[in-house]
Amino acid sequence: MLGLMQEHPLLVSSILRHAARHHHGARIISQDHTGSIIRSTWPEIAANAARLAHGLARLGVKRGERVATLAWNTTPHLEIYHGVSGMGAVLHTVNPRLFKDQIAFILADAADVVMFIDASLLPLLANLADVLPPSLHHVVVLGDGEAPALPIPVLRYADLIAGESDAQDWPVLDERAASSLCYTSGTTGDPKGVLYSHRSTVLHAMAGVMPDVFGLRAVDVVLPVVPMFHVNAWSLPYACPMVGASMVLPGPKLDPASLHALFEAERVTFSAGVPTIWTALLQWLRADPARRFTNPPRLVVGGTALPVPITAGFAEGYGVPILHAWGMTEISPLGSTNARKPENADWSDAEFLAYSRKQGRPHFGVDLRALDGTGAPIAQDDKAYGELEVQGHWVASAYFNRETDPAFTPDGWMRTGDVVTIDELGCIEIVDRAKDVIKSGGEWISSITLENIVLAHPDVQLAAVIPAHHPKWDERPLLLVVRKPGTDPSKDSILATYEGRIAKWWVHDAVEFVDSLPLTATGKLWKAELKKAWADYRLPG
Ligand code: ADP
Repeated sequence: MLGLMQEHPLLVSSILRHAARHHHGARIISQDHTGSIIRSTWPEIAANAARLAHGLARLGVKRGERVATLAWNTTPHLEIYHGVSGMGAVLHTVNPRLFKDQIAFILADAADVVMFIDASLLPLLANLADVLPPSLHHVVVLGDGEAPALPIPVLRYADLIAGESDAQDWPVLDERAASSLCYTSGTTGDPKGVLYSHRSTVLHAMAGVMPDVFGLRAVDVVLPVVPMFHVNAWSLPYACPMVGASMVLPGPKLDPASLHALFEAERVTFSAGVPTIWTALLQWLRADPARRFTNPPRLVVGGTALPVPITAGFAEGYGVPILHAWGMTEISPLGSTNARKPENADWSDAEFLAYSRKQGRPHFGVDLRALDGTGAPIAQDDKAYGELEVQGHWVASAYFNRETDPAFTPDGWMRTGDVVTIDELGCIEIVDRAKDVIKSGGEWISSITLENIVLAHPDVQLAAVIPAHHPKWDERPLLLVVRKPGTDPSKDSILATYEGRIAKWWVHDAVEFVDSLPLTATGKLWKAELKKAWADYRLPG
């Protein structure tokens, strides 16, 4: 017997419709690259999203066609997010920090038909002029600026939407239709496209607002530092209108002083970003005791592991709680968060801070398992290593334009490439990426564990552990350290941080000081590049 309830497809357009009808009072604040601020509301965003959809239809954009954006977190980008998906086209966010040949590959693979580009990125457009794909028939510039000469028309965003109707006549689509497309950052091999559906996007945003995830409410003021080109800004462009929260969009000005000024001026209550952002903000705050938060916001961090000293620094020094989240492009990206459970609800703050290095537990809608080398599930004993696999409503089932990929298992799971332990509470801890663990004499050493220990040294700014070739053990860890300015720690003092914290056979003596470490376009340590650069390294002795 079937239930007797109404059925409505889960569509991205329904989110903005809800915000425009029921959340007039929320503020949407947008800062452009010049620092000037535009203020609007959900009804105004919805009206412009509709004008944009009509404008794109006039340019000939059809359902299912891909529309690229190279843009920062701004109001026009938010309007494009909703307008493009709402009309049934596919929003393709592109990371402007990628290399030219990666962007060229991604644009060609997606076969984008229109490209939106922020005025501050016009030099990039000039650089891309000779690699734009043949499918592209219009470029639209967000803001004012002198566009380079191209063989296709270049319009201004304001002109594209001017004179268009604001009628929000969104089509009723199949909820399984594609709504957006995002590429993995391609640190190994070519980037791969992940094609989200309307259904997966709506369900993912509904999960994102749950209390143990982002816990968003209508009274929140949300500042996504995570770029809208980094996996849907972790759902915030959908989750905020879903609950009627206000948004503060910082544009490209992400230095600590600019961010802190926005937090204070707009009374931000919630923000999300990668560890490099929060580490820099903490250093900036500490440089002057007068720097405080009038209303301490809640922060979420993900993308790479957040070192406990940063979480502790924010919590103890500024009353700012940080929630540790894990995710990936292929899972929209939210997979787990480390929020308390009944079993650790009574732990002291200090105990829970130490525990916050872990990436947490999944929420309803995604499931996790970890398998050892034989394919058996690992014990939940906080010790056994296994590769994490994931399954759920917002998990990819295949890559765009690729027939098959070994990431997808025959029984419907996706291999994450992350090596984890799981504890008795079901909490995962990422010990490494499968390709980055140090394989020493048949045993695995977690490069991330070594890095986190060393980061607690007061003179260490950045650390990376990569494998160095060893004639007997195959690989041994090589630690690369960037010192804090004005400090000169000895190798011995750095190695002393390991004492009593890891198995003896993990401890190594290869330490080298470097001026900087390469980062990927999403701000992660670029281990593949480091391994190349240090391939000929000879271990001491
Ligand atoms: P890419 O895989 O191309 O670098 P993603 O942004 O999809 O881009 O990265 C996903 C990966 O980032 C995960 O598989 C994991 O290795 C890492 N990651 C994400 N969040 C965390 C976290 N909180 N702690 C440790 N690693 C993380």
